[in-house]
Order: sequence, then structure tokens, then C-alpha cells
Amino acid sequence: MNPPVRVLYLAGSGRSGSTLVTTVLGQYDGVFAAGELRYLWQRGEVENRPCGCGRPLRDCPLWSGVRRELPTDRAAAIAAGLRGRLRMRGLPTLLRRHRRGVRPVPVHPDDATLADLYAAVARHTGARVVVDSSKLPPYGALVGALPGIELRVLHLVRDPRATAFSWRRRRGLDGDADPELMSRPPVGKAALLWLVWNTVTVRLWADRAPTGYLRVRYEDLTAEPEATLARIAAFAGVDPDGGPFTGPATVRLTPTHSVAGNPSRHRTGPVPITADVQWRHDLSRWSYALVTALTVPGLRRFGYPWRRGVPAPAGAGRPARGGPAAAGGRSVGVGRAGSTGHEEG
Ligand SMILES: [Zn+2]
Repeated sequence: MNPPVRVLYLAGSGRSGSTLVTTVLGQYDGVFAAGELRYLWQRGEVENRPCGCGRPLRDCPLWSGVRRELPTDRAAAIAAGLRGRLRMRGLPTLLRRHRRGVRPVPVHPDDATLADLYAAVARHTGARVVVDSSKLPPYGALVGALPGIELRVLHLVRDPRATAFSWRRRRGLDGDADPELMSRPPVGKAALLWLVWNTVTVRLWADRAPTGYLRVRYEDLTAEPEATLARIAAFAGVDPDGGPFTGPATVRLTPTHSVAGNPSRHRTGPVPITADVQWRHDLSRWSYALVTALTVPGLRRFGYPWRRGVPAPAGAGRPARGGPAAAGGRSVGVGRAGSTGHEEG
């Protein structure tokens, strides 16, 4: 029998640095940056959108090999099945099942195909770790219950005022020339989604720390990129010294074959990692107040200040009292200013 496929699942809310982390991790030996695999069927197979390497997915040599082992003629049906199983309204049931110790997302006939996908990816890439940046907690719960998968969860959190601001930007799904835009929820909705997805991520996995769950804040990642990525690599079980850093905050990126995600996944060459702090100046007072009011429980849990301009206390971001001690990140304050901030999805 084959050893299980280790999947590093990036969980949480969108616009929290997951594309950056996925692309950088993909440069380490033994790691394959698969991108947002929950979108493989619709955006990759049906819509033939670009792979991280720039080719349409169906023309990418790497994915061609993987696709030969999958029932690609059923891609649209598999995508529809996933959408149906991962609806927001199913969350209360999902959490109830998790609390009772049963599989959070019920068994489905497509599960064997999904398990085959991860096994085929590992086989064709030779990777010891497959990075899946799908983020959506219910999909992570589904993947973690598949046969032959060993799931490790990296929970990326970012200040909700920053993510709400980032969501409002107009961005093409696959770059500026793409007429189809990334979703742009109003700030109130973005705030609620932030609270829901981060809370559900904690409920599902935080008790698996330190071996099965690691929480990292975007602000700590951008303040100390090399050290934080080394910590993530060690958590994933790969050599933390084998990364692409040419300086403490600069990486040299080669193309990945990631599916879906922020258009920044196509960046290559030397790339500085800096915090995107435009929201600090440009988020309106009204939006700041609304997002703050809607996310109060999460602000406290993840160590973000209520008031504007107040730096997070040292050690913030550690789990609340009673939480798993090793889950939180070392905190060195809220990210630094940078004129060429790294906007992330
Ligand atoms: Zn490719």
C-alpha cells in the first residue's frame, strides 16, 4: 500500500497571504504548490484557465499527466457536486458532526475521484508535500477525511480591516486583462465571512496543534518572511533551509503549476515580500468601524486592536486562554509599511 499523501491545507479567509505562501513553499525541495484544488474541476478543467506556469491548464504538461488518470469528462458534474456539498448553510450541521466525532462532510460517490486526484498529483510530481490553498474550511474537512490523505492545516489570519479593503479592489481573475473579476463582496459581508471562516477553522483543527495545526498571521509573515516561512516549512515536514530566500525579505521565484488563486501566483524572478498597508490610509472611517464592530470576537482571539493606529501587543495572535499554546505565531507587531506592498489572496 502507498504511504499517505501529506497535504498542507491553507485554511481561513481570502486575501490573507495564501497565494504568496503557496508560491514560496512551491520553491522548496519536495513540495508541490497545487494551488486551490477545489477549483481544478471548474476553472481548470471546464474553463481551461491558466495554470501557474502560464499555459491553459489543459495544455500544461504536468497537469496533462495528472488529468489522464482522472475522469475529466465528468469535471462539470464533480464541480457542481462540490458546490452543493460545501454550501454555507451546511455549516451548523458540519460543526455538529465534527463535535460528535463523525466525518464532518458526509461520504459521496465522488470522494474516490478526489482521493485519486491527490494521489495522482503526488505521483506525478514526486512531492512529499502537496500544498492546497483552497482555504474554505468545509473543503479542508472533506479532504482530511479522504482515504490516503494526511492533512496538516496552516491557518493564515490577517487583520479583517485589511482583508475587507483588499476584497473591494477591482482585480481580474487571472490578471488585469481578464474581464472576469475576482469577487468583491461589500465590506460588511467580507467582515462576516472573515469571522465565520476563521472561527470554523479554529473549531475544526486548532486542537490538533502543534503537529496538525499551525496559525500564522499575515502581519508576522510580512514582518519576518524568512523566519516565518522556515517555521511553516518545518511544520510541513520539509527542510526549512531549502527555501528560495536571497535575503530576509526577498525570494527568487520560478514558475509553479498552481491552479486558481490570486493573479500574483504568476510572478517570477526576484520578488520582495512586504506588507500591503494601503488600507490603513484608504479604508474609510465608516468601513473601519463597521468591520471592527462585526469582527469583535475574532479581533480579540487573533490579537488585533480595535482602534485605528494602535499596534498589536507583542505576543498577540496567540490563541485565547484555554486554546492550544503552540498554535499561535510569534508576534512582532503589525506589518511594516512598504510602498510596493504585497497584495494577497
Ligand atoms: Zn502548469
